[in-house]
Amino acid sequence: MAAGSVVRMGTLLVRHARVLVTMDGAEIEDGAIFARDGWIEAVGTTADLPAGADETVDLSGHIVLPGLVNTHHHLYQTLTRVVPGAQDAGLFKWLRALYPIWARMTPDHVRVATTIGLAELALSGCTTAFDHQYLWPNGSRVDDQIEGAEPVGLRFHVSRGSMSLGESDGGLPPDSIVEEPGSILEDCQRVVGSYHQPQRGATTRVVLAPCSPFTVTTDLMRETADLAREMDVTMHTHLAETADEEEFCVTRFARRPVEHMEDLGWSGPDVWYAHAVHVAPDEITRMGRAGTGVAHCPTSNMRLASGLAPVAGYLEAGVRVGLGVDGSASNDSSNLLAEVRQSLLLNRLAVAPGVGEGPQMTARGALMVATVGGAAVLGRDDIGRLAPGMAADFIAIDFERIEFAGAVHDPVAAVVMCSPVGVDHSWVGGRRVVEDRQLAGVDIGALVAEHNQLARALLG
Ligand SMILES: [Zn+2]
Repeated sequence: MAAGSVVRMGTLLVRHARVLVTMDGAEIEDGAIFARDGWIEAVGTTADLPAGADETVDLSGHIVLPGLVNTHHHLYQTLTRVVPGAQDAGLFKWLRALYPIWARMTPDHVRVATTIGLAELALSGCTTAFDHQYLWPNGSRVDDQIEGAEPVGLRFHVSRGSMSLGESDGGLPPDSIVEEPGSILEDCQRVVGSYHQPQRGATTRVVLAPCSPFTVTTDLMRETADLAREMDVTMHTHLAETADEEEFCVTRFARRPVEHMEDLGWSGPDVWYAHAVHVAPDEITRMGRAGTGVAHCPTSNMRLASGLAPVAGYLEAGVRVGLGVDGSASNDSSNLLAEVRQSLLLNRLAVAPGVGEGPQMTARGALMVATVGGAAVLGRDDIGRLAPGMAADFIAIDFERIEFAGAVHDPVAAVVMCSPVGVDHSWVGGRRVVEDRQLAGVDIGALVAEHNQLARALLG
């Protein structure tokens, strides 16, 4: 689907859904969607919608939801899942163990890891994914990710990420994998010019995404913000992930992480932070006022023992919050439905007596973060809900699966609270991505074999 242009795909009707969840507040029994050329024209009961279309799909027994949105990830890390030296470490030790391995990646690693990570996301309900790639060794480029994403068929927000503060200047990464600021900014311009689609219905957008305060110079942070605003693209970075990072910022800049980024122009409706775990109440209030967003990554925060993000506080303050699987070496999974469940469970713990305050996250609240919240974080008004005028991005889950046995009392909550499953079907812009639990455009067996070969070669 070419963004911004009318693509003649004809009409699509899906009907007889057991429950269709619009995320606009309606849960429609015997639900249906009628779409034309990739856009939703009508949502309602099967009886209320047209009786036929160019393509008609019977979704009896299925729960239908808007496609899930992933707002933070590192697809290349699928190559370094469960590396022994990085299994039981906090963030800084974990990074130091993995940097030398990542430094050996080639364009093939980046391309194949992109396909595999997006494939796993698609099979677990994702229809729009953001990826934060911040190191580009051995000639690898954003173009390799664009190529790797193509066969999966998700909407892809790719980043031109960066690292410029090496060990010899007080940063965390080895000097060998940081780049010159001048060439970073030049490549940012090239990538935005080549791939960014600003229109509604975009399949590819570009985000400028320096890695973090401890891997990027303050000058480059500021210059990246200026360039992003000049080119009208959004920007993203890791922030306030761990106590180590807070100590780094206070020692080096005499500012807490959020204060430091505010000083550099990194707040507002065009900015979102990954993690935002160690954030003070007054900083949450300012983030809400400024319109800054957060990618909440519960599994990664548990895996690295980073801490509990104050999600209840963010939602109360009006901070845009989306969900991110992060990783895949700090999650070891790219399953987005599983992450929805993790967010529910971790946020229950976060407001337990003696731990924190706020209302319990509900199953529907967790789905809201994963759909409407994710769309808001990525700055999109065309996805996240099922309504006329929205993109035809939706997923269908078979409620007859064993994981849901006995959950007949509330099938919608069951999607979150029962054991996480994959999706049975999904569509992006009216095009089929998953059909009968298989990806339409990818041979998974061959892909996994190639990916494992590349992963083995990387560790030498
Ligand atoms: Zn991350």
